[in-house]
Formats: sequence, structure tokens, C-alpha cells
Amino acid sequence: MIRRSVMANRLRVIRPRPILRRCRGDAFKQNNHDHRICKVLGSIYKFMGNIAPAAEHVLHEQKLERLAEVAVRVGLGLKIGQELVMTASIDSLSLARRITEHAYRAGASLVTTLYSDDSAALMRYRFAPNESFDRAPNWLYEGMAEAFKNGAARLAITGSDPLLLSNEDSEKVGRSNRAVSVAYRPALELITRHEINWTIVACATPAWASAMFPDDHSDVALAKLWDAIFETSRINHEDPVANWKTHDANLHRRAAYLNEKRYTALQYTGPGTDFRLGLADDHLWIGGGTTAGNGIYCVPNLPTEEVFTTPHKDRAEGTVTATKPLSFQGTMIEGIQVRFERGLIAQASATRGQDVLEKLIDTDEGARRLGEVALVPHSSPVAHSGLTFLNTLFDENAASHIALGRAYSGCLRNGEKLTPDQLAAKGANDSLIHVDWMIGSDNMDVDGITASNVVEPVMRNGEWV
Ligand code: ZN
Ligand code: ZN
Repeated sequence: MIRRSVMANRLRVIRPRPILRRCRGDAFKQNNHDHRICKVLGSIYKFMGNIAPAAEHVLHEQKLERLAEVAVRVGLGLKIGQELVMTASIDSLSLARRITEHAYRAGASLVTTLYSDDSAALMRYRFAPNESFDRAPNWLYEGMAEAFKNGAARLAITGSDPLLLSNEDSEKVGRSNRAVSVAYRPALELITRHEINWTIVACATPAWASAMFPDDHSDVALAKLWDAIFETSRINHEDPVANWKTHDANLHRRAAYLNEKRYTALQYTGPGTDFRLGLADDHLWIGGGTTAGNGIYCVPNLPTEEVFTTPHKDRAEGTVTATKPLSFQGTMIEGIQVRFERGLIAQASATRGQDVLEKLIDTDEGARRLGEVALVPHSSPVAHSGLTFLNTLFDENAASHIALGRAYSGCLRNGEKLTPDQLAAKGANDSLIHVDWMIGSDNMDVDGITASNVVEPVMRNGEWV
């Protein structure tokens, strides 16, 4: 699971948009309308020859509408009178405004959206003094924590350019990430402990689409990314809210099965991987939605395909190889291979972005240990799409994964009530970071090991047994 999205950005070439006769702007809310999508879908459907030109526009708007509805009704479960704090990039306006509308219609008392801007984020790296990179807007994060304590829900729209900071000084990137982690911690803790209802949903943006589909014209890339988001976010159904409820129930059933088994460890076997990971004492498998401390049922990640729990921070042994690149706050890390000894990273390498990986695991002592283990079948819609989204919200749902850093106390029995020392005694890791990386594939076998050392198959070739 991921708990926040970075609002990252990039410099864009602003091209004049052509005037499109097919767009019936008057029939829709102008502000929410993205003509580029209309244009591209128009040419695709025209080519198919079976959908009237106006229909393409209706179709996209309909899906956007459904995504916003699912975000508010399934993701947040927003309650009448509740405040909502939302973060979004200015490239996500179309979705942010739809969500705002749905939130108010669901009875939100106040929706506050903090918008970020690509160009502004890069200007810091161009023009700010060196000391800037140790700073974060503490007052802002304190305000967010205050809002959450007073009952606000939290929604993040993800969609940043995964390559935004890939050419920037990794030392500065690391320092600024650290400053944000420290400042955000009090607010993030309320999210980690599920004290409030929260969710993350994706919006296609030109920069993200171009990073994913570099060979396509930007308009085509954007339309392809929207299609992929709608499909993997399970929006392409007559009644997506009902479809989500069924999917959520299936995840809960899978987690219940693993909780009944009470494995002490998982053994992973696959190309470049021979790895045994102990599970924390009193670990609890979780999947799908959850009832937050404020009593509201929410589904924190859209999409979500994983069941996950807390590994034991001192019980990881062997070598594990990543099966997908890791996009870490603007930088791509590829070909990660890590060897663990008694839970601690003894050796870590990457074919690309090794310096960023090293800075990441040097964040603090807990950054060299694991805080999450998640199982995802290879047949999940994200894996089925065959795409690498360069965004953890999606890519973590394409494959089984583990996370460096902080554990979720919610993945332990009565974890929310334990002190940091008690959590550590059960094997739960602590760190400023929590970074998921993908280790599953259709070549990966996973076995569960019981307390009496019986080995049972859990996954074969990436699918549930
Ligand atoms: Zn995670
Ligand atoms: Zn996860």
C-alpha cells in the first residue's frame, strides 16, 4: 500500500490547442473538459467507424465522472459534514473538480485542494540556495495534521511526472525528501494508523503519459494512459461502485485465509531470487478497505489488488531481485538486487540509479530493513495491462512486493494500541521512509512455512494456489 503521492512536476511546452468542432462544450462543464482526449478518442472511434463523433466525448466524461464517484463513495466513504483535504497537480484539474463536486454532493462541509505546479518544483533546483533543500513547509503539514485531528478526510490525486527529478542532483533530492518526511510525519502518522479515512486515486497527465509512452504523440499517449487508468481502476463496468464492493470482499476473503494459516515465514523462489522472509509476531494480513479510527470505512488505494502484512524486521535472509523498475520521487531505479542478512541489507545494487538507491537506504537505520510484504496475483488488471506505469500506486498492484522502511502498525493485532517499543519487540520496523519495490512475476513461487516447519504452496507462477 502507499500512503502518499508526491506532487511532482516538469517544465512543459505549452502548445496552442486546436479548435475542435466535435466537442460540444456547451453540453458539459467547460472547466472539466479536456479537448485533447476528445480529439484523440474521436480519431480512434472514427477509425473504428461505429461510434458517433459526439459519443466519444460523452464516453470519456462518463468515465471521469465514475472515477470521481468511486473516489468519493468507495475510496473515501466521505460522510455528511466531513471536511476534505485534497492534493493535486494543476494538470489534474479535470479530475480534482469532478471529485470536488462529488464530495459536496456527498455532503462535504468544506473541500480544500492544495495544487502543485511542475515548473515551480523545478525552479527550486535551478535557482534556490543550497540551504533550501533542508527546508519543508512545516506550517503546512502541521495544518494538515490539525485538519485530520479535527475530522477531515484526505485524498491525494497522483499523476506526477515520474522522471521529473531524474536529472537533478540526487543529494539535493534526498535532502528535500528527508525534510518533507520529517515535517509530514505527524500528519502521516494519522494516515498510517488509519485514524482517518483517506484514499489515493490517479489522473492522467501529459508528463506522466509521455514518460510511459515516449514513442507516441502526446495526445495519443494521454488517451492511452486514461484508458489504462479507467481499466485498472475498475471503472469500465456498468456499476463500478457495486463492482468495487465485490472486489473488496474477495480481498478480505484472501486475507482471512492467510490469517488462519499463521505462517511464520514466506519463501520466495524465482529468477535471481532465493529469499526467506519471516513474518512479525501477531502479524495480521490486510486487503481491501478498512474501517478507520474515525469509524468510516475507506479503500485507501484505487486501484488495490494486494493483501499485505508486516514482516519481521530481523528475519529476512537471502537474495531478492526486483522485477520492475522503481520510480522513487522523480528518479528511476532499475535492476535492483539486494542481499539480506538477519533482516538487514548487507548488499544492494542497481543497474540504474544506484546512487539514489544508496541514499534511500541510508536515510536512517530502519531504511535498510523491511516494513511490508504484499502478495498480488499476476492476473491482476494492472499486470494484465502489460504496462509499467512508473507509478507505485499501479505498479505495486502488478506484482507481489516488499517495502523498505516503516511498517504499518495496523498489520499487527492491536497494533494501534502498542507503543513504539512494543511494536519493535514484535518485529515491526520503523523508519522515515516506506518504499515499495516489486519482486513478483509469473516466474515467482511463494511458499508459506508454518510454526512446525511444514512448507505449503501459496503461489505458483505468480498465481494464488
Ligand atoms: Zn507499501
Ligand atoms: Zn503494498
